[in-house]
Amino acid sequence: MTERVVAAGRLVYDGEVLEPGWLRIVDGSVVDGGAGSAPAEPTHVVDGTVVPGYVDLHCHGGGGHDFADPDLDHVRAALAFHAARGNAATMLSLVTAPADLLLEQVRRLAPLVRDGAAPGIHLEGPWLSVARCGAQNPAAMRDPDPAEIDALLKAGRGTIAMVTIAPERTGALAAIERLVAAGVVVAVGHTDADYDTVRAAVDRGATVATHLFNGMRPFGHRDPGPVLALLDDPRVVVELIADGVHLDDRVVASVVAGVGTGRVALVSDAMAAAGMADGPYRLGALDVTVSGGVARLTGSETIAGSTAVVASLVERRLGLPRADEPSPTELLAAVAMSSTTPARVLGRSDLGVLRPGSSGSYAVL
Ligand SMILES: [Zn+2]
Repeated sequence: MTERVVAAGRLVYDGEVLEPGWLRIVDGSVVDGGAGSAPAEPTHVVDGTVVPGYVDLHCHGGGGHDFADPDLDHVRAALAFHAARGNAATMLSLVTAPADLLLEQVRRLAPLVRDGAAPGIHLEGPWLSVARCGAQNPAAMRDPDPAEIDALLKAGRGTIAMVTIAPERTGALAAIERLVAAGVVVAVGHTDADYDTVRAAVDRGATVATHLFNGMRPFGHRDPGPVLALLDDPRVVVELIADGVHLDDRVVASVVAGVGTGRVALVSDAMAAAGMADGPYRLGALDVTVSGGVARLTGSETIAGSTAVVASLVERRLGLPRADEPSPTELLAAVAMSSTTPARVLGRSDLGVLRPGSSGSYAVL
């Protein structure tokens, strides 16, 4: 048995901000906690604020490694990079690839999910819009073929947790039903669809917007498209890459004010270069150059994933560092969007909150 007793200046515990607070964690799970000073000698004293570990629904790698790397030690190193920055769970997102390669990648990553090293595999492609391909290979994008979907689900054996799909592709609505029936969270993204087509996808069971605004037909006042369809529907949680590069901070603030923190998930969409120096990297089969912390397809203006981690998005939202402490309301909002809401998307009641029985994974602000 390993026990740790954490004493924190501030602690977000079971939906409340305690000042100070304490937490007892046994074998990785919270056993008890509360306000005031710890009843036992603390093993860990934290000066800052302890919050539930972050849940990143959309991440391609970090620390110099991509989740598509054939060497699982490199994949583990990328997961460890994000865990060291406060993630309790980091999705293994894979970009568009030819069918054989994608199957191979899913087979390789599935054991990591079964071991609990990651909450699931996220297929961001190949069933996406060529017109909204972003930093993915349009030549490998295709219509969702039921046989390919079945082969991937079989290869994953329950480890494919999320699929991003463009609902205007031929066969997409049937594919959404098939995936939802298999327990997969379906996200709408990299799409050129109109409002009604996106609404139809949500009616079939899609519940997430893959990085809202990025990689989709922009909002138009006579053509509201995916952006408004996804914001309008209370069944949808919207991912936001709130790094100040992919989205203007005022757009993030407006979305949060409009739909509430229960419908927003802050995602990193991090690629291998997260946490690394500027220079050349790979995203899937494409070359990426990172300059000034911004990743772009080499020789192009197209943004290619981020170099963010969820912790940096939370710090940006809270304006950290700053002279005064964030208010309890601000803190709880940040916890909701970085942890509680994305955990709910995954159906993980053990994540997103610190309380007896939950995961003891925490982050420090
Ligand atoms: Zn992505």
